[in-house]
Amino acid sequence: MSITLYTPATGFPDLEAKIAYGLARVGIEAFGMEKVAMHDEGGFYRIVIDIDENESGKLDKTFNLLCRRLLSSSYIPFNTPGIAGRSAESISVSQDEIFSLDSYKSIIFSAENRRTENICRHGNSFIGNIIGITVATSYHHKRDGIDTSIQQNVPRRPTNPKNVCKVCALLSLFGTWYASFIFNIADREVIAIPIPKGKVNGIKLQEIYTLQHQIRKNWINQEIPQVIIPLIFLSKIPSSADILEGFDLFIAVFSRQQGYHVDGLFLVPVEHYLDFIRQTPYNIATIDNMLRRGAYSALQELNKAIYNQDKTSLPIFARLYVQETSTNNFTNLLYTETRKYLLREVAMISSEIIENSALGSLARTLRYFIREKKYGYADDIRNARKESKVFESTVAKMLREGRLRLEQKKMIHLPTDEEMKEVFRMANADFEDTKTALVILAFSFAPRAEEETNEIIEEVQNA
Ligand SMILES: [Zn+2]
Repeated sequence: MSITLYTPATGFPDLEAKIAYGLARVGIEAFGMEKVAMHDEGGFYRIVIDIDENESGKLDKTFNLLCRRLLSSSYIPFNTPGIAGRSAESISVSQDEIFSLDSYKSIIFSAENRRTENICRHGNSFIGNIIGITVATSYHHKRDGIDTSIQQNVPRRPTNPKNVCKVCALLSLFGTWYASFIFNIADREVIAIPIPKGKVNGIKLQEIYTLQHQIRKNWINQEIPQVIIPLIFLSKIPSSADILEGFDLFIAVFSRQQGYHVDGLFLVPVEHYLDFIRQTPYNIATIDNMLRRGAYSALQELNKAIYNQDKTSLPIFARLYVQETSTNNFTNLLYTETRKYLLREVAMISSEIIENSALGSLARTLRYFIREKKYGYADDIRNARKESKVFESTVAKMLREGRLRLEQKKMIHLPTDEEMKEVFRMANADFEDTKTALVILAFSFAPRAEEETNEIIEEVQNA
């Protein structure tokens, strides 16, 4: 036997998820996490509580208890991004208010489509729907034509703000504080809500709850481009990788300028990010390096590469990373582990190319010039097209300069003729992958420790 509760299918992904989390939280408080599961039904959620129907009275009791315990003052609403001043007062619960969750026990099919109708279509008492409850409230209000009103035979979009029932508003607050992440980036407030895909059990919900306590303490004190927020956010909680598997992330960025303003709103799939973060701690260190040095162009390029699995962004990222994270007396290169991940998992280049010793030998020469901050050869190789023969002529030019350095008694490594033949054969067979691998290998620390030591000695000698 079990009880099923339904969210109202409002059409707002953040509100729906928060109501679902709120209902689940009530279920978990009343009956324990093992009894509760949440199912994504595409547009609404089903919360199944594994109890006898005659126990359902305990749900209402628990809900009212939680409301009085947590929401009788305006403290929580006040500290929720998107809720300010008078709205916070309107959400607090007074001593004599008693609520029921009965309206969530069935799916509401019919909408009256009146202006006065709550967006959740529940008949309970209502409050004005605000940004803190439904972020899209700050955008033009329209539910895909459903609530278009006809005036003088012309369909119009209603401009008056809609209401939501108070029970949904309270559940949404519980949901916010139970399973979403609130943090600050410089002077902006950010809320990230995991949007479930498929089934989520109570144990998973408790994990999210634990995870969000870590992020609450985490402030990012610098302005960062909005597009990299999901990557930065996830890299700050590496343990999120397993927990947030199977969720999308709904992210809203707020600023305060006489009340709240929504600066950005995005719904992102996170699996590629999670994969990047999970693979090796060096990937997280790579992000930290860029944040520390304010290497935002490199970060945006890395974001493009990971999010879109776009291999053409990778060589540009490698170049920007080295340029933006190096100092005057130290050339910072990509970690071997990160380089391996990017070449294998993002660029999907075969190990015959990545681990080819002839290509590694030529990359070592190219790295010599990169350490001198001479990026021209690497840039020309990156931009080369197969037909243009720029690849061949750039490599020839670089080797000429290399031989000159050798005559000047510099410790530069040069590939053998055999190795060069091998590289050109590879480039002929698979031009894009060969040049991508070459450039990224050159922008990375040498794979073997002894070679690395040699190169650092060279760098010191050349300085
Ligand atoms: Zn409602």
